[in-house]
Amino acid sequence: MLERLNQVQERDLKLDALDAERADVPADLVALRRERTELEERLDARTAERDALRARVREAERELAALRERTKSASESALRADSPKEAAQYQNQELQFSTRAQEIEEDVLPLMEELEGLEAAVTELEEASAELTPRLEEMEGRERERLDEIDRREGSLAAEREAAAGEVPKPLLAQYEQVRRARRGVGLVELSGGSCGGCAVKLPIHVLQKAKRAGSGVVRCPNCGRILWNRSEDAA
Ligand SMILES: [Zn+2]
Repeated sequence: MLERLNQVQERDLKLDALDAERADVPADLVALRRERTELEERLDARTAERDALRARVREAERELAALRERTKSASESALRADSPKEAAQYQNQELQFSTRAQEIEEDVLPLMEELEGLEAAVTELEEASAELTPRLEEMEGRERERLDEIDRREGSLAAEREAAAGEVPKPLLAQYEQVRRARRGVGLVELSGGSCGGCAVKLPIHVLQKAKRAGSGVVRCPNCGRILWNRSEDAA
């Protein structure tokens, strides 16, 4: 009876080990994923800066175009003016507009240089990202294979576990599962001389005798609560 339960526990422990194995992502993949994330963060930040600067440059260019239009129109109006005074007013406007246009041009020049730098930085990051992609995809492919293989092993272990559990009396299985949860995965332990094989406490003689006697029901360690198993007796 406990032999069967031990078969259940063997599967449970292997299933626990599979969970640990699943979580153990290869270090080079972890590093490459981090590299990709950092690249993307930098790319996002640079792209946002570039877009904001582009918008500023475009806005300045729109303003410049409008000022040039107004300069031209003031110049034409000056030529068509009815009096020297009116002509002087238009010429004055023309001068104001062209001065303002010049100021904007001077302001926009360093912005365009900065924009060029940002465009280059974005391109460089995009290239680095593109270069990394095939390597990462290849490693992700291998990682999926690794996880699929673990899933397959898990599937067959779970089936074996269910089959073995089906032959263990329900109350015993329930006790085992409860102890296992409380005791880091191990609910059933062998006797180790006169001691509990789980917590190593020396067992009182009556507990030991009861545990050694076949068919005397479930005996649990008074210290850790694990179910005690006299393996040699069970096998006999
Ligand atoms: Zn114990």
